[in-house]
Amino acid sequence: MTEFWKTKTLAEMTTQEWESLCDGCGQCCLVKLEDTESSEIYYTDVVCYLLDHESCQCGDYQNRCIRVPDCIKLTAKNLDGLGWMPDECAYRRLAEGRGLDWWHPLVSGSYDTVHLSGASIRGKVISETEIDVEELEQHIVDWVR
Ligand code: SF4
Ligand code: SF4
Repeated sequence: MTEFWKTKTLAEMTTQEWESLCDGCGQCCLVKLEDTESSEIYYTDVVCYLLDHESCQCGDYQNRCIRVPDCIKLTAKNLDGLGWMPDECAYRRLAEGRGLDWWHPLVSGSYDTVHLSGASIRGKVISETEIDVEELEQHIVDWVR
């Protein structure tokens, strides 16, 4: 595969290229809290029930928006309005002209580097099925990047 992410805009990418940009970090699948006054977003270490904690992949990617109605399907058109996406998300990095980091699978050639670099949520999270929603605030974390 050519280094398409260096030569194409997000809007110019094919579906296959677009999908390959997701590094599988799983950070966008963390449950988030929003301060209603400041609109600030806080990430928690609680993750969507469909996420596989080991592979960090969605358990039903094709039907994700049906199974989880507030799961947002990323597109080149809605990316601008998604300021809550993690700083290191590949889509956000490219949208902001920051390129891909060394651990991105398209650069390193392996998904292992996403986990080895600490960019993924592997080993850091619990499922939303394991906690009471009232406890969410106690799960706010600062390691999302
Ligand atoms: S944060 Fe970005 S790169 Fe990571 S899983 Fe979500 S969409 Fe993929
Ligand atoms: S449905 Fe899948 S992609 Fe959407 S938040 Fe849950 S695990 Fe992530």
